[in-house]
Amino acid sequence: MKAVALYGKQDVRIVDRPMPTAGPNQLVVKINYVGICGTDVEFYQSGAVPPFVQLPMVLGHENVGTVVEVGEGVTDYKVGDVILCGPPSHCAEDCPSCRQGKTNICINGFPRTAGIGGPDGGYAPYMLVRDVKHTMLVKVPEGVDLKDAVLFDVICVSLHGVRNSAFKFGDNVVVSGTGPIGLAAIQCLKAAGANKIIVLGTNSSKEPILREYGADYFINSKECEDLEGEIQKILGSPVGADVVYECAGNMTSLANCVYKCVKPGGQVSIIGTIQEPMHNLVPGQFSIHEPNFQFSFTYTEEDVTIYLDMVASGKMKFPNMVTDIIPLDKAVELGLNRQDRRGMLKILIDPSL
Ligand SMILES: [Zn+2]
Ligand SMILES: [Zn+2]
Repeated sequence: MKAVALYGKQDVRIVDRPMPTAGPNQLVVKINYVGICGTDVEFYQSGAVPPFVQLPMVLGHENVGTVVEVGEGVTDYKVGDVILCGPPSHCAEDCPSCRQGKTNICINGFPRTAGIGGPDGGYAPYMLVRDVKHTMLVKVPEGVDLKDAVLFDVICVSLHGVRNSAFKFGDNVVVSGTGPIGLAAIQCLKAAGANKIIVLGTNSSKEPILREYGADYFINSKECEDLEGEIQKILGSPVGADVVYECAGNMTSLANCVYKCVKPGGQVSIIGTIQEPMHNLVPGQFSIHEPNFQFSFTYTEEDVTIYLDMVASGKMKFPNMVTDIIPLDKAVELGLNRQDRRGMLKILIDPSL
C-alpha cells in the first residue's frame, strides 16, 4: 500500500509499505480520515522530531478509522467498529501520572504514539494499532459525522485546557488566537457558560467565524493601541478578565495575556504550544498582580469521550472547521507544504480519494 513517510527536513516521500496484519493485542484499522496537524507541518518544515523517533516514519496521529482485523486476545473491539486512534499513548499504570488518570502527561507515552512518536501513523490506507492496551482508542458513537470525530485532537487540546483551568460559570474570559485551537476554546467556553468572551487576533477577516463559534467581542491586537483599556471598557471594570487563554502559540500573544488581559489574581492558561524562549517576560512587572499560570498539554480519554458525547448531542458544534479534504498523494503539495493557507483551518486526508 501507499503511505506518506517523513524522512527528514522538507523530505516527505510516498513509500510502499506492506499491508499490516494484526498480531496478538493488535488491530488493523482502515483509515477514514486523518487530520494534518500543526505538529506534522512543524516536523516537515524543521525535520526536528523527538529523540526517540527513528525516521522514516509514516506521519498521522489524528486518525479515525474502521477496524478491519482483530488480533488474538483483543476483546474490546470487533471488525466494523469505528474508532479514534489518537495520541497520546500511555503506559496504563506503570507511571505515577497514569495511576492518577493523567495519561496526557505519562512519561512513557510519546515513544509509543503512532505517527508522532515512533510507530507508523495514519497517512496511509491502513494502520496497525501495535499495542491496544497502551493506545488511546475511543469508539465513535453512532450519529457523529466522521469529519467531526477526526477533529478530536485539536478540539480536545482546548477542551482539556478549559477543564484544566480555573474557569467557573459566569467568568469573563479572553482567548488569544484565532486558529483551530482558539476556535475550539471559544466553543468550549461558550458551552461551559462563560459570560463575556473576548477574542484577540491579528486578522480581522476571521471575525465572522469567531462570532459563529461564540466570540462576543473581537479585538485586532495588532491595530489596537490600548488593549488593556479596551478590555476594561468591554468588561466595565477597572481590571481584566478572570481567565485568559493563550491559544496562538507565540510570545507576543502570551505577553499580551500576562500584561494586558488578566485581572489581578486571575489565571493565564497556556494551551498553545509556544516554541519561542520566554525571555521577554519580566516577572517583576506583573508579579505584583499575582497572576497564576496553568500549562496544559494534550488530553485524556475522558476529554475525548466528553467531546464525542457533546458533539453527538449538539451541545458543541464546529462548523466550517474542515476547510479541505485531500488525497494521500497530495499530502505535501496541498497539506504539509501548502503555500496559500489563507482561510485554511483543518485539512484532512481521505486515503480513499
Ligand atoms: Zn495533532
Ligand atoms: Zn504512564
